[in-house]
Amino acid sequence: TKWVYSFGGGKAEGRADMKNLLGGEGANLAEMSNLGIPVPPGFTISTEVCTYYYGNGETYPATLKDEVMAALSQVEEDIGLKFGSTADPLLVSVRSGARASMPGMMDTILNLGLNDKSVEGLAKRSNDARFAYDSYRRFIQMYSNVVLGVDHHNFEEILDEVKEDKGVSLDTELDADDLKKVVAKYKDKVAEQLGKPFPQDVHEQLWGAVGAVFGSWMNQRAITYRRLHDIPAEWGTAVNVQSMVFGNMGNDCSTGVCFTRNPSTGENAFYGEFLVNAQGEDVVAGIRTPQQLTIAGKNAQSSDLPAMEECMPEVFKELNAIRHKLEAHYRDMQDMEFTVQQNRLWMLQTRTGKRTTNAALKIAVDMAREGLINRKDAIKRIDPASLDQLLHPTLDPKAPRTLLGRGLPASPGAASGKVVFSADEAEDWVKNRKERVILVRIETSPEDIGGMHVSEGILTTRGGMTSHAAVVARGMGTPCVAGAGEIRVDYASKTLKVAGKVVKEGDTITLDGSTGEVFIGAVATIQPELTGDFGTLMEWVDTIRTLKVRANAETPLDAATARKFGAEGIGLCRTEHMFFDPKRIIAMREMILAETEKGRRAALAKLLPYQRQDFIELFEIMQGLPVTIRLLDPPLHEFLPNSEAEIAEVAKEAGVEPAVVKARNAALHENNPMLGHRGCRLGITYPEIYEMQARAIFEAAVHVSRDTGRTVVPEIMIPLVGAKKELDLMKASIDKEAEAVFAEQKYSVHYMVGTMIELPRAALLAGDIAQTGEFFSFGTNDLTQTTFGMSRDDSGPFLEVYRAKGIYEHDPFASLDQAGVGELIKIAAERGRATRPGLKLGICGEHGGDPASIHFCQGAGLDYVSCSPYRVPIARLAAAQAAL
Ligand code: PEP
Ligand code: MG
Repeated sequence: TKWVYSFGGGKAEGRADMKNLLGGEGANLAEMSNLGIPVPPGFTISTEVCTYYYGNGETYPATLKDEVMAALSQVEEDIGLKFGSTADPLLVSVRSGARASMPGMMDTILNLGLNDKSVEGLAKRSNDARFAYDSYRRFIQMYSNVVLGVDHHNFEEILDEVKEDKGVSLDTELDADDLKKVVAKYKDKVAEQLGKPFPQDVHEQLWGAVGAVFGSWMNQRAITYRRLHDIPAEWGTAVNVQSMVFGNMGNDCSTGVCFTRNPSTGENAFYGEFLVNAQGEDVVAGIRTPQQLTIAGKNAQSSDLPAMEECMPEVFKELNAIRHKLEAHYRDMQDMEFTVQQNRLWMLQTRTGKRTTNAALKIAVDMAREGLINRKDAIKRIDPASLDQLLHPTLDPKAPRTLLGRGLPASPGAASGKVVFSADEAEDWVKNRKERVILVRIETSPEDIGGMHVSEGILTTRGGMTSHAAVVARGMGTPCVAGAGEIRVDYASKTLKVAGKVVKEGDTITLDGSTGEVFIGAVATIQPELTGDFGTLMEWVDTIRTLKVRANAETPLDAATARKFGAEGIGLCRTEHMFFDPKRIIAMREMILAETEKGRRAALAKLLPYQRQDFIELFEIMQGLPVTIRLLDPPLHEFLPNSEAEIAEVAKEAGVEPAVVKARNAALHENNPMLGHRGCRLGITYPEIYEMQARAIFEAAVHVSRDTGRTVVPEIMIPLVGAKKELDLMKASIDKEAEAVFAEQKYSVHYMVGTMIELPRAALLAGDIAQTGEFFSFGTNDLTQTTFGMSRDDSGPFLEVYRAKGIYEHDPFASLDQAGVGELIKIAAERGRATRPGLKLGICGEHGGDPASIHFCQGAGLDYVSCSPYRVPIARLAAAQAAL
């Protein structure tokens, strides 16, 4: 096996398509080298070494050492420096690089190769002793911390001491001799802490760093990040060893981050930030406020600092040319890091840039129009789940608000929540107090990832658009305002202050991540629209997909939202939700409390007009699209009161003693209500309930069809069927009701009677059931519950353990269990269609809005998926991707 791959000097052993082996960074460094883009020479130790390392008691393959030495010689030759040399020392960076980007999660070491001798060589080469000793002291601190485990504060104390002795407050006020002192003290401290000196052997340094990077694959931060992003531990990380170039060797040096297009808006404009005389990590850390690359960028941020376009025009031109070359080559927006050393540009990294969902849509649509990609590529580029961000409310422009402060619009969307000042508190407040929080930090760091994830929004007072908070928030789709410099955060008193206003922990604020504004209190929001690039992409999507998309909706508001989002009908109207209105629940309870059929019918007669009106509204809103109405499903005790006060009230309304209500409650009590007297079992035992519902449907259908001239397509659906006989009985009574209504009204409409398939028995006997059922809709919530034998309401806590132990990879109630439940769906589809060719098949469980489940539905030959109104666009896109 080959373990090490070289790059640099216009050639490379790797390629962009070798990400699995070389990690994202390594593969792209190789690709850039091959393209003739200036990349500091280096080599990548492959992910297979990481796998070997963890599979063999943290040891390396036998031949690794020789390969690394050979690659190192190659680097020395390419750059004309020597590792460990006193005269011309080669310094390297050692960084992790996994297959998927894990920003800041693992360890990095810079300036490796410095020791008491080579530091002198560096001083000579750079003609700057201060720079050399500053690099050395940074290296000792970083290496000692990351590799040797010596805590940061030891070094910070020393630095403060030396500054205090000299009577200065800034690091930059220390000269070469001061820094020499710092270095000596650092080394003493390391020796004192570890009982052995700081390693002077540069090869020992190198192997120490490589081991630390592989070790960091299993640190807690990285493990958490992988869990949140579904990255398997088996992938491992590669290690990139690369010659150092310095952006901090003087004012003809700089370092920066840039994007080929604006990652926030998607606009086709070069976008980036840089810092003069700084090291790469300084930009990302957000410690100094960076300068803009372009004049346009400078104006947009109303910055006083000159843009690179102005102060380093030659370098800017070269960088802009590389921008075009890389984007054309990768055919996607790139996120690049660069360093300028003594006016010479070096590219340190390129990768597919993270972007907001709005930017992703704009970039995909623009690139398809520019001919860089085709429409299918554009559709594939958008993660359906990410659309969720756009389908939720934004601030109502008309809502009153009190501005608290302003920062950079780092990640769009509106969010309100209670202020907390640490990531741990964010997690605590969300988990234990069930609060929505806004995480407020001076700046964030990778340790904060857990708290950032649970927060509604993130506010920082320091750092730019590429600071940690901004990058991570955009990736998570969490609204973020970054670098709100006028806001002062005080962690000790847990307050933030701006211009005389004080906000305490627990106070509510609102962020607008699209404008960078921060408001006091909660600001009202408005519903989103499918317009612009989003609308365009959705039009393209609809020309590709073959699955139809319907919505689960019962209220006029939900139905209208569903239509606005492009639903092609209602796939599930849960009629029980229509009975909780205060006026109706009285009649419902009267029906349940009635002792005789006559009593029940009297109560049902009161409900009929309400139901009829419900259906009239739905038919009108859906304008000729199919409306699947499911007859009553839940166990009746769900409608009865629980508290003494409620019981007394219900008794009074029904004109009975409270004891009667209590007795009825007790009689209806079930140990396993989900497996109890519910679904069509209600229709079997109390046929009058379904008769009333059927009558309401037919009267509504006749009314809308005859009196408004609109087409109506009612599909009546029976829940929890397990036997053909059940459906036979229900259908007969529905047909009878239809005949009666049509005769009374002297007008008829077409309708269908079908069934849910939500019990394993129904799936297995689908061939029989399809003799009666005219359509099937898979109720995968119940089907999952009954196939797994796990309560959908109670399985959360132990399912978490099951997932942690790897028994089930996903929550089967969120993403369809294709192996088990999916098999039942395939069996039912096949057997149903064998009986009734062309049988219409849909799905209306939660899974109908889950992209992975939608892929499965496409494969299983379903006709449509049905999901909540807000997921309709997600389902449309996922369906198109499934069809590609
Ligand atoms: C289902 O079981 O999947 C379903 C859609 O019905 P409900 O969630 O109402 O039980
Ligand atoms: Mg169900």
